[in-house]
Amino acid sequence: MEDVQGLNWGLVGASTIAREYVIDAIRSQSGSDVAAMVSSDRERGERFAAQCDIPRVATSLEELLEDDLVDAVYISTTNQHHASQALAAIRAGKHVLCEKPLAMSLDDARSMVEAAEVGNVVLGTNHHLRGAATIQKIRNLVVEGAVGTPLYAEVAHVCQLPPDLRGWRLEDSAAGGGVAFDLVGHDADTLRYILDSEVVEVSAMADSHYPIEQGMVAVLKFDSGVLAHIIDTFNVPYGGTGVTIHGTRGTIRANDVLTQQPVGTVTLVDDRGERAMDVQHHGLYEYALQRFTSAARGHGTPLATGGDGVASLAVTLAARASVASGSSETVEYSGGL
Ligand code: NDP
Repeated sequence: MEDVQGLNWGLVGASTIAREYVIDAIRSQSGSDVAAMVSSDRERGERFAAQCDIPRVATSLEELLEDDLVDAVYISTTNQHHASQALAAIRAGKHVLCEKPLAMSLDDARSMVEAAEVGNVVLGTNHHLRGAATIQKIRNLVVEGAVGTPLYAEVAHVCQLPPDLRGWRLEDSAAGGGVAFDLVGHDADTLRYILDSEVVEVSAMADSHYPIEQGMVAVLKFDSGVLAHIIDTFNVPYGGTGVTIHGTRGTIRANDVLTQQPVGTVTLVDDRGERAMDVQHHGLYEYALQRFTSAARGHGTPLATGGDGVASLAVTLAARASVASGSSETVEYSGGL
């Protein structure tokens, strides 16, 4: 990848994901650093900034966005705030890397994409799994025809929330809690990326805790004809994660690949037998930040664009609608991508 000028970042959100992964990923980019941050709670912001060595805590989003030194903003607040904060940042001329889901409604997500186009700034969605060498390997194998024509896919995102993340995800519907907003969008994006195809229909069921569901099982129908089965949980300690792609000439099985760590294995089974694929692991968030930085400096596109975030949100919302209606739901792209 080309050597590009780094970015000065402003963080919106004193979040776990920023502290554990994204700040380091920002700092791994040559010339990039975190210049400032904002939290809705001044004291929490001060503590977070001290812990993460961030030089300045703004008293408001407006103040952060008025800072001419800030080139780009990373938004990792709870989900109901993403759209309004991203729109404010875009209108202030900042590039925006926004956590998934981009918004709680398709109209809001579309307006973010449109505002970024009008403002000529880059909007990316942090679908970090595209940054996994394992997922990239699966995509390349599919593109090369290793499985022939893909027919079916399976995604297992069978996890237990760590104790420190059991707050709003399990308690606050208005904040976008529940496994659908958390994991279904990642599954949809990962399969869209691997299959280069759009989800057109979803049939889903959730556990009895809906709308703060802890488990969801869904069937996704892609415009290519592929049928995918996904299972997402917050409450299974020893399930694990995996992606399987079944095609006319082969099957790809990938284990431990829907994680935040550069781990996991990819195996191809075809008429030559079963063999492990060579995967050169790299940091998922570092890869995403590299792509975003390049895009903001005029080279290429983010790993997942705003449009990709709209598409994954559309699948998430269709899955939630299907749970509520008890029927299959067509995926609405709200005006197209
Ligand atoms: P956290 O719960 O850690 O943080 C979310 C917000 O909660 C913070 O912005 C903060 O608000 C507030 N908050 C933090 N600590 C406290 C506290 N002690 N008491 C009250 N409020 C608090 O969320 P996550 O980091 O898990 O997720 C943030 C976003 O990132 C979500 O949109 C999620 O979907 C996404 N995410 C994405 C991942 C990925 O790999 N792409 C992985 C994990 C999450 P304030 O900023 O106002 O202080």
